[in-house]
Amino acid sequence: MKVYDISSPIFEGMPVYKDKKEKQPKLTTVTNGYVTETRLEIDAHTGTHVDAPLHMIVNGETIETISIEKLVGQCKVFDLTGVNDKVTKEDLERFEIQRDDFIILKTKNSFDEEFNFDFIYLEESGARYLAEIGIRGVGIDTLGIERSQEGHPTHKTLFTNNVIIVEGLRLKEIPEGQYFMVISPLKLAGIDGAPARALLFEGLKEE
Ligand SMILES: [Zn+2]
Repeated sequence: MKVYDISSPIFEGMPVYKDKKEKQPKLTTVTNGYVTETRLEIDAHTGTHVDAPLHMIVNGETIETISIEKLVGQCKVFDLTGVNDKVTKEDLERFEIQRDDFIILKTKNSFDEEFNFDFIYLEESGARYLAEIGIRGVGIDTLGIERSQEGHPTHKTLFTNNVIIVEGLRLKEIPEGQYFMVISPLKLAGIDGAPARALLFEGLKEE
């Protein structure tokens, strides 16, 4: 069985949203010579992470309310590396998408080593299309699932239709296809998101 780690490493100097200095993780290591402990100061939206509705919805649900069952199971990786600028409804219509699917969008973003201000994003029409089908969740290979859309309609459409959003996946090595997926966000309580380890397993089927 092949395991793909599709999470981003977390380190000082890693790519962060819009290269904002205040979003850089700070890892402070203290040692007395033999006992070593590191303190982490990180944004909840660092690297690979799961967004909770509270991120864009006033009084929205918090990260620990997302059931882990929804983050474990079959998923479909779609190759959208030929798409420029944004993923629209039209781009998604050629794929077979069913209710309760968890879909992962592999775009050109997976080949960026630094934060790309012109990252490919899921446009509002694409988000509406996925919400209408009633998918379980959607993952993308950039630190934001949308950009330059007034009022954040992609986030809001997905959140209000109970579609889980996973951002910051690394998919360069992942061929299009079906996988068994495990996305495991840190069990932080009461906040708007959490960093996660994300894994895909090849050739493992759900019972
Ligand atoms: Zn986020």
